[in-house]
Amino acid sequence: MTQFKVNKPNVLLLAGGAGGAKLAEGLAAMEEISLSIIGNIADDEIFHGLWVSPDIDTLTYSLSGLVNRDQGWGLADEGSKALEMLKILGNDTWMFLGDKDFGLHIHRSNRLRQGYSRSEIASEIAQSLGVKVPLILPTDDVVQTRLKTNEGWILFQDYFVRQRCAPDVLDIRFEGAEQAKPTSQALTAIEQADLIIIAPSNPILSIEPILSIPGLKDALQSSKASILAVSPLIAGKPFKGPADKVMASLGLEASAIGVANHYRDLIDQIVIDDQDCEATAEIEDMGIACGLDDISMRDQADKVRLARSILANHVSFNGFVSSEAAQ
Ligand code: GDP
Repeated sequence: MTQFKVNKPNVLLLAGGAGGAKLAEGLAAMEEISLSIIGNIADDEIFHGLWVSPDIDTLTYSLSGLVNRDQGWGLADEGSKALEMLKILGNDTWMFLGDKDFGLHIHRSNRLRQGYSRSEIASEIAQSLGVKVPLILPTDDVVQTRLKTNEGWILFQDYFVRQRCAPDVLDIRFEGAEQAKPTSQALTAIEQADLIIIAPSNPILSIEPILSIPGLKDALQSSKASILAVSPLIAGKPFKGPADKVMASLGLEASAIGVANHYRDLIDQIVIDDQDCEATAEIEDMGIACGLDDISMRDQADKVRLARSILANHVSFNGFVSSEAAQ
């Protein structure tokens, strides 16, 4: 059993959607830590007049156990009647939104009209659905990812869902980021963290938008906490999604080494897959401690196993002592 010098250490996870939610679930199962999560809001878009927040919803549905486990997003036991009607009425329906999911977006949009902040609404929804972990937004302002392809600048969901990540990405910008203010909850969570984990989320499309909010990267860099990333790539390939393509098209090496290099001014440690063991020396030459593990989270047991292993085997900093070191 892992022993901690700090009674119940504060662990902060920076997370996108699918990959982020998997590790979030593993960490949430650990009673010996106090977990908070900062989620990505730059995938947000308006559909059918409603504000949709895909990554925050994936985290909420996963942590509440309501998620569709086969997909890793959306709700289990969903219907599509609302979307069918929207199609009959001549609307574009390439973005799948289930009937129950629509209920959540109606609620969120209504609360926004009533003047509640995005973070108030996100935490109210999470609590109503039984999520115990504080789900924090990086900003209450609107920040949205825009991708430059051969067609010009397009919306994130147009690229991700409608075009299934097929176009080459020539450039990326996070519209609204420059003027955005970090939430006080995000700054406090960073300040109070004993350990910060960057989830195995897409480094460019899910984590970078969080880091783009003025003040958040500085707060992370000056935090007393150790910062550890988990690679979303094994042997240069993501489990799902376009992380390798996007990294390569922006001139980054699509590999565990490329992920470490991308985060090098931020992280102290990275956990990469056993299969990538030959990358260890090059990563350690960057001044980043490199841990090897099985980083595939195929099922619930894997999520908990990886979360426990990160804390027991890969964290070495003031405040934590692994079981071996504590004996
Ligand atoms: P999105 O916003 O829904 O795309 O979600 P994320 O950015 O959080 O997650 C996408 C990333 O998660 C991809 O780059 C995947 O390679 C990574 N990922 C998904 N499942 C796993 C897993 O089991 N282990 C690891 N290490 N990464 C994973």
